[in-house]
Amino acid sequence: MKTKAAVLWGMHEKWQVEDVELDPPNEGEVLVKLTASGLCHSDEHLVTGDIPMPLPVVGGHEGAGIVAGVGANVSDVAEGDSVVLSFLPSCGRCSYCARGMTNLCDLGAFLINGPQLDGTYRFHARGQGVGQMCLLGTFSEYTVVPSASVVKVDDGTSLDKAALVGCGVTTGYGSAVRTAEVKAGETVVVMGIGGIGINAVQGARIAGARNIIAIDPVEFKREKAMEFGATHTAASVEEAGPIVGLLTRGQMADAFIITTDVAEGDYVGPALDLVAKRGKVVITAVGHPEQTQMSGSVWMLTMMEKQIRGSLFGSSNPRHDIPRMLELYNTGQLKLDELITREYALEDVNQGYEDMRNGHNIRGLIRY
Ligand SMILES: [Zn+2]
Ligand SMILES: [Zn+2]
Repeated sequence: MKTKAAVLWGMHEKWQVEDVELDPPNEGEVLVKLTASGLCHSDEHLVTGDIPMPLPVVGGHEGAGIVAGVGANVSDVAEGDSVVLSFLPSCGRCSYCARGMTNLCDLGAFLINGPQLDGTYRFHARGQGVGQMCLLGTFSEYTVVPSASVVKVDDGTSLDKAALVGCGVTTGYGSAVRTAEVKAGETVVVMGIGGIGINAVQGARIAGARNIIAIDPVEFKREKAMEFGATHTAASVEEAGPIVGLLTRGQMADAFIITTDVAEGDYVGPALDLVAKRGKVVITAVGHPEQTQMSGSVWMLTMMEKQIRGSLFGSSNPRHDIPRMLELYNTGQLKLDELITREYALEDVNQGYEDMRNGHNIRGLIRY
């Protein structure tokens, strides 16, 4: 079939919205008619090269829609089902899945290769195969994805809002609730209030944090953070330090979550300085692959048992946590509507990313 998709043909180029050819689903694959796709920062990383992926590629990895067809041996979803696409597939069988760490599923190795799990392409344009971001490619009206990436949700779910739980919401919420293990009464610092950080703020709120200090240089984002549950804001880490000290009688924070656009190694030291004994520094933002140096006192790691933890998809299990996010939305505890700053047609995807770069958006959303 033919479908319209946003394709990246070269680094530092614009997304090209064009008609592409889409093959039917193979064995173990699902054809999805997308309702909406979030504009996540990670697709911008494809443009800048911070995430090295072979091009061309159909972008987008935060989507939801309706199943429009299934390949052989797909039994967990059927045509007409409402689904959220998880940016991480989970096979349910590998060592990590077996231990309840499906965010670390071995299928993650295929995430930024381009083709589907069997090594062949579903999308074709200009006489060649076109890869799919995170095996998904949600910047397309239709896509074919592994059934391991598909999470069935209740019929009647608002699939435009639900798109956001396929990556950003679950990642941010999980960074606080699962990776940082925030508990009632704790003090949490979130550095970088974009689509991930804002959800780390609301995760900390839902977990019962006493103080939530949101750091961002952009005033609009600091205001947004307060709407989502931050108790204090600061424009910089330097500014946040005395606030955390005062709020905790000098004990400092239980968790410091780094959700900046890109993670830099020299963010770690100042973050370690702001956490208490046994405090956790969580790194959710993606660092440059070639960066191998971090700042921070090794002495403090030992003497104060300070911890540095990486967080992928907020240490979440997609098949459990994606429906859980929607349950929290349905009961009014998790804000999704308020996350969407602006909506775009697929044709305006480049404008959407320009708005993100200029700090105008918490989350932009493409609606099909
Ligand atoms: Zn994402
Ligand atoms: Zn697995």
